[in-house]
Amino acid sequence: MDITDFLIMDWEGDQILADPQGSNLAFCCFTCRGPVLAVALENQRGWDEEHPAVCRRCGAAYLLGIRPHAEKLYIHKVYDFE
Ligand SMILES: [Zn+2]
Repeated sequence: MDITDFLIMDWEGDQILADPQGSNLAFCCFTCRGPVLAVALENQRGWDEEHPAVCRRCGAAYLLGIRPHAEKLYIHKVYDFE
């Protein structure tokens, strides 16, 4: 899915600084500000709880909530590693 110009928001609906390009989404971990890469494709990073996008630094896990018609994407936190 091409999410290049989508509005990227956190789970509360606040816009965040992120970099969507093609089906890839780079953003900073909400816990430690480490780099996280998610991919808006089935069974890729961030697709569901079995395929979360995981922070390389602290292990926090995220899911993408994609709203294609609204061109919006919500980032949901699954858990913190701590
Ligand atoms: Zn982190």
